[in-house]
Amino acid sequence: MGSAVAAVVPEEVTFELGDDQLGVARRASGRGLCAECFGRLLGRWGHGLGNPERAARLEAALGLPAAGMPEGCPVCRGVFGRLGVWADRAVRAAEGYEWHRFTCGSRWDPERLAAEEALWAEVGTGWGESARAAFNRELGKRLEALTGAEGGSVGADLVFLADLPVGRVELTVASLYLRGRYRKLDRTIPQTRWPCRRCSGRGCVHCGGSGKTYPTSVEELAAAPFVAAARAEGTRFHGMGREDIDARMLGRGRPFVLELLRPRVRSLDLPALAATLGPTAEGRVELLEVGPGSADEVVRLKEAAPEKSYRVGVQGDVARGKVKEALLLAVGRTIAQRAPARVAHRRSDRVRARRIVAAHVVDEADGRFTIDVRTEAGTYVKEWVEGDAGRTDPSLAALVGVPLRVEFLDVLEVHDTEGT
Ligand SMILES: [Zn+2]
Ligand SMILES: [Zn+2]
Repeated sequence: MGSAVAAVVPEEVTFELGDDQLGVARRASGRGLCAECFGRLLGRWGHGLGNPERAARLEAALGLPAAGMPEGCPVCRGVFGRLGVWADRAVRAAEGYEWHRFTCGSRWDPERLAAEEALWAEVGTGWGESARAAFNRELGKRLEALTGAEGGSVGADLVFLADLPVGRVELTVASLYLRGRYRKLDRTIPQTRWPCRRCSGRGCVHCGGSGKTYPTSVEELAAAPFVAAARAEGTRFHGMGREDIDARMLGRGRPFVLELLRPRVRSLDLPALAATLGPTAEGRVELLEVGPGSADEVVRLKEAAPEKSYRVGVQGDVARGKVKEALLLAVGRTIAQRAPARVAHRRSDRVRARRIVAAHVVDEADGRFTIDVRTEAGTYVKEWVEGDAGRTDPSLAALVGVPLRVEFLDVLEVHDTEGT
């Protein structure tokens, strides 16, 4: 670990005491400060020394008695003498969790912090370090020594907040992220869990006590083996967009990030767990390319606007050859779409321009045909085919001149990577 290696290298000590520094120490003496708080008045003067060692040097230079660690220290009330107790509390709070990196914070009585700043002004130091920063650092060192975990501000598995007035350590467990692509082969399940509208998820007669609108979802099926292995308390599922409930997601699948909330286990064999999904979700959800993810990836997923390809089964009395003609007119052309009537109540109703990138007829029979179509991100394909009562212009129905109805729709590909 980086910090352990760094600690082996002895740091050069500089702590030259001039009249200004000795004056600070002289004015601070006799106030009952503990060695940590006394030394910390010059915490940002020189380097390579802990604050109690600074205090010892000042005491030697001025012939003062050793400050020790009195409980009655007017700045910290003895907190720095109880770092071991706080470290033990943190370790106990973390029991049952796997952790490798951590961050320490602390909550102080604001009066205590204000008193420290007042003291700085009284003794005239410009080199003071705040009690909170010193406490957080020292607690971190204790935890590193006790557990072998690494302290730092980034990538923490656990965040400890020592609540000094209350006397307890609050624990925040960072989410564990994994990424992958999912294929959805079932036309009856949504991407994410849908709380019941009547009870908002609490469970009621309407939803049979499940709290859900649909019995399961891609999120629940895909997460199950990971939640069990990580002993997580819940999930959040982030997809690069989503398909309709009655649409399948085929091809290479759709990119997603699964966030496991408050995991107890972090070292997971992701490919092996992804493979165990098979039996439970057979014929419904498949996972591809599962690997470690990150919170940053969630942002990238949400910002992505990939083209998508669809296969659409359509019902309509169109003369043979007419669909092909219409698609020739449609490809490369921009269509104007207002939010579909089915979602207009929750989306803004502005007109958006979208392009049909490619389209061709897959097969034709009497009264129905199948097409593949590739569109810009955000195109409402069902509405483009049917016309949505004029809200999409021009629609395929308008181009062939007869009413059309979408029988089924599958997403064949999400073109999120170069050359796909
Ligand atoms: Zn103190
Ligand atoms: Zn309900």
